Amino acid sequence: MSVLAIIDHGQGQIKKSTGELLAYSAALANALGTEVSALILGTVEDNLSDLGKYGVSSIFQDINAGFNTADNQALTAAIAQFVTEKNIDTIVFPDGTLSNSVAPRLSAKLKAGFVSNAIGLPKLENGFSVKKAVYSGKAFAWYKINTAVKVISISSNSFEVKTSDATANVEAVSLNLEASKVTIQSVDIVKGEIPLSEASIVVSGGRGLKGPENWKIVEDLAHSLHAGLACSRPVSDSGWRPHHEHVGQTGKQIAPNLYIAAGISGAIQHLGGVNRSKVIVVINNDPEAPFFKAADYGIVGDVFEILPRLTAAVNNL
Ligand code: FAD
Repeated sequence: MSVLAIIDHGQGQIKKSTGELLAYSAALANALGTEVSALILGTVEDNLSDLGKYGVSSIFQDINAGFNTADNQALTAAIAQFVTEKNIDTIVFPDGTLSNSVAPRLSAKLKAGFVSNAIGLPKLENGFSVKKAVYSGKAFAWYKINTAVKVISISSNSFEVKTSDATANVEAVSLNLEASKVTIQSVDIVKGEIPLSEASIVVSGGRGLKGPENWKIVEDLAHSLHAGLACSRPVSDSGWRPHHEHVGQTGKQIAPNLYIAAGISGAIQHLGGVNRSKVIVVINNDPEAPFFKAADYGIVGDVFEILPRLTAAVNNL
């Protein structure tokens, strides 16, 4: 029995989710009374031994594996090979692309039960039961995994991370990557944008902004706060903002430390993607807007006045 955490990375950096992934995996292994290790496919600039502070003392790295993020089949095969060789029975993925694309493939390949977006540690008294949010975050359900090998992914910002002074031992491994079935021809990185999955602060705009020409006041606040940008669905459907900024039931589901919603009514479908945010600030000129019920802080006012004032206040800090 042992637990393996799969580290995600991109553009030479490990993803922000790694600390939570490793702390969670170490706590899970502790609860199971078993070993924990981590696997990273590819090279990064980060010093991997520093990751020992999250409680995982053993990290395996395949520096030969071209971490082709589009080639999920090859990644799946490499992880499956490692898991089988090392006799690992619990594999943990972070929230994000790997959880969406590799974890389900891996569970199919290993004939393992898979539960995505776990919140907190599994209950182990009567098997292995994982808690996750359902019905757009209106309820929680427990899913019992009945197979010997288990695959889970964890919901971001749902597990408290504690660190120590420990370091990890990094060991090189060499896995057989299957011949690629796809090739990345080019990658266009949107400069200066903080990906929503990485952003600890998100500033989001809705139809209250009236049109795309007014988005500078949203962007200015996001820039001052080093925040990611998001929007409601009608905003992206109308082409005011790109689709990758759409959050909600049918868009991205995020859980930043701070979510600032400007000119968004707070429909249930929108809340379903953002209601796990640690702190929600709502700016709306309608005091009856439903979003205020979900807000930690509410500002009743005109976004065209409030957003520039907030930006100026942040810039003066
Ligand atoms: P509106 O509902 O038009 O609200 C605009 C708000 O701005 C109002 O509350 C208004 O008071 C306020 N406002 C106006 N002017 C100002 C001003 N000057 N200053 C301050 N406030 C102002 N929506 C999503 O967002 N994400 C989803 O994933 C999603 N999925 C859906 C799935 C389904 C199956 C369906 C049916 C709907 C879905 N929707 C989703 C749509 C959702 O129901 C709402 O229609 C949508 O969220 C409303 O967007 P909005 O709040 O930007 O616009």
